[in-house]
Amino acid sequence: MARRKIIAGNWKMNMTPTEAVALIDELKPLVVNDEADVVFCVPAIDIIPAMEAAKGTNIHIGAENMYFEEKGAYTGEISPKMLVDAGVKYVIIGHSERREYFAETDETVNKKVLKAFEHGLTPIICCGESLTQREQGITIDWIRQQIKIAFLNVTADKAKAAVIAYEPIWAIGTGKTATSDQAEEVCAAIRACIGEIYDEATAEAIRIQYGGSVNGANAAELFAKPNIDGGLVGGASLKPDFGKIVNYK
Ligand code: PEP
Repeated sequence: MARRKIIAGNWKMNMTPTEAVALIDELKPLVVNDEADVVFCVPAIDIIPAMEAAKGTNIHIGAENMYFEEKGAYTGEISPKMLVDAGVKYVIIGHSERREYFAETDETVNKKVLKAFEHGLTPIICCGESLTQREQGITIDWIRQQIKIAFLNVTADKAKAAVIAYEPIWAIGTGKTATSDQAEEVCAAIRACIGEIYDEATAEAIRIQYGGSVNGANAAELFAKPNIDGGLVGGASLKPDFGKIVNYK
């Protein structure tokens, strides 16, 4: 069975609530595509107005992060229950910027993944290598380790519903895109790793995105690869170009 494409924007720390509503109003006619899931992952403060602005459209509103506890003395954090109550379905977990600037580790990623599933949220689990790791030839080993830890204690049933975003760190926000062959090689290795952890059916079901300077000009070639089921898009998700990415064919 063909996997449904999923194209998600990661707004990062951009857009005030007012700007978020204006951007959704601008992009909503451009991102119509019945053949793909379209998700805008927005800053926490934008979730509720974005949800309102996206009502009646094909746009799902997602979060960029969440904490792995239900509630309590965790100043500044946002809980899975809060996301669910706001109507969120998707949440990015373990983006490389969270790992680099906010000390997230493979272990905290695993805790968040487990918690997201417990609440019926779909995690978009990020993994990716640095330029040094790529140059040292350890990309696949590194990614396999990230995936194995992220999925610890996750059942096959839940894993099937997960989304993995392969994002080489050297390609994020740099304008340097991995070639479609480089991206496909790693996405295929991720699928094989999921097959080893679980089984063939789980590997076939799970959706794997590529992220790293995706734009309207390179999306078609990347998304045509057999193991690439869409993209996680930073910079270009804030522009009309996102419409071209969603309608890449
Ligand atoms: C990202 O933030 O996940 C990302 C891939 O950013 P960009 O598309 O700007 O490289």
